[in-house]
Amino acid sequence: AYAVDVVDLAKTYRGKRNGAPVVALSQVSLQVPVGAFFGLLGPNGAGKSTLINILAGLVLRSSGEARVWGFDIDRQMRAARRAIGVVPQELNLDPFFTPREAMEVQAGLYGVPKSERRTDAILAAVGLSREADSYARSLSGGMRRRLLVAKAMVHAPPVLVLDEPTAGVDVELRRQLWSYLRELNANGTTVLLTTHYLEEAQALCDRIAIINHGHLIACDSTEALLRRL
Ligand code: ADP
Ligand code: ADP
Repeated sequence: AYAVDVVDLAKTYRGKRNGAPVVALSQVSLQVPVGAFFGLLGPNGAGKSTLINILAGLVLRSSGEARVWGFDIDRQMRAARRAIGVVPQELNLDPFFTPREAMEVQAGLYGVPKSERRTDAILAAVGLSREADSYARSLSGGMRRRLLVAKAMVHAPPVLVLDEPTAGVDVELRRQLWSYLRELNANGTTVLLTTHYLEEAQALCDRIAIINHGHLIACDSTEALLRRL
């Protein structure tokens, strides 16, 4: 079984401005093995966010199959949602919640019993212990990103999906975030992230899929892929 299994996935957005439809994904098939650190690499507009948003249940696919942890994202939506943690690209946080409050709200949304909540441990793991009780509006971009990762891990999902997690994050914080993601992966979490930086995919991922204009153009181990470039 795969952590993420996508078969012939396609998405066409109905055009808004001039009415012309936009093909964002065409017949994409890819499998993310359990335990992998998997990178979806491609330029802006390639379709990366669309794929992530379909897995997250935010965008409806046009056709094809998508399973997370074996659960069909439509027909077994509740189970699929429990199996996945999603870190969106936008740093959208309620500015008047503290990290601790945001974590508690998220735990409530996912029905994590109070006795099983690990708010302090997760905030410590992402380096936000000191800021746990500060309002989110006072957090830097890097801190917000780490809080989004912490929120995504509240229900201890086996699969963590991140859309361009280090976009706009400065070099030092990027390294911190990288080491946290490596640690999560070493502890058994399957990680799928999108990036348009080859260096990032190379530094983190053991498998890479390259996507361009909605088509999957390569998918292999990082080592084999780099040999071919
Ligand atoms: P990315 O940074 O992943 O390339 P974009 O900047 O293309 O994302 O898109 C930002 C937001 O605008 C997304 O929520 C996306 O769904 C939406 N969007 C992108 N392109 C269009 C479009 N042609 N029409 C309507 N919405 C769009
Ligand atoms: P990436 O994440 O690789 O930058 P996206 O998945 O954001 O790519 O976008 C793929 C294509 O779909 C782009 O041409 C983008 O403009 C278009 N697109 C994305 N979201 C929307 C939307 N909500 N409506 C219309 N077109 C969209």
